[in-house]
Amino acid sequence: MNESVRVISVLPDLLGTYGDSGNAVVACRRLALRGYRVELVIAALNTRIPSDGDFYLIGGGEDAPQAKAAELLAVDAPIERAIDRGAALLAVCAGFQILGTSFIGPDLKPRAGIGVFPCKTHRFDGPRSVGELIVDPGRDIPGVPLLSGYENHQGVTELAEGARPLGTVLAGKGNNFEAKVDGALKGRAIGTYMHGPVFARNPKLCDHFLSLVVGTMSPIEDAELENAHKRLYEERIKEVYKG
Ligand code: GLN
Repeated sequence: MNESVRVISVLPDLLGTYGDSGNAVVACRRLALRGYRVELVIAALNTRIPSDGDFYLIGGGEDAPQAKAAELLAVDAPIERAIDRGAALLAVCAGFQILGTSFIGPDLKPRAGIGVFPCKTHRFDGPRSVGELIVDPGRDIPGVPLLSGYENHQGVTELAEGARPLGTVLAGKGNNFEAKVDGALKGRAIGTYMHGPVFARNPKLCDHFLSLVVGTMSPIEDAELENAHKRLYEERIKEVYKG
């Protein structure tokens, strides 16, 4: 197979805390292992963000860089245009917040988001949500086991009425302190509070994401990789979530 795909790492120099830029690396590697020809585009600050990619990945960051990223993404709407063409999007933490309908700027005032996800983020007037996060993706994402990530955010996110989360929170906070859900699912867009990078910790979620554009993913025949992921799963999930 020689099908070509373009993976766009969106503003990794602004938004990439906890190695979120690694999500693009993992996505590229798992596509290449399936025989795809992969082009990784680093859409960094002061470069044009392409709208013709197949996969878009954006990470987390502090309040000021996240506001700057939102300003840049509002110019020519590259992400919305890509999604309209059928691209998939993974947005983590700050990236998730700015792709909702509103988020909080460094001046602590609400700002308009890009509006891909039907959710609003406010500033929580209490402790930051920091620590291991375990999420059950439930039946919305069949074949994907419990998910593990690391969260660190002050913002709390409310999904609009009827909007779908990525999953149910089993440990940690996720979107907010009451709802016990994490992230959002909207068409081919996935939002989450899980750093990790989330695709390195949860390769089945990565494969699900890739399948949204390229269809069914064949299994990867690599015992060492499988074994490493099994151990990671045990360490990160069984240790944290004893339920
Ligand atoms: N600055 C945002 C918050 O604190 C996002 C943080 C992050 O991406 N880790 O809520």
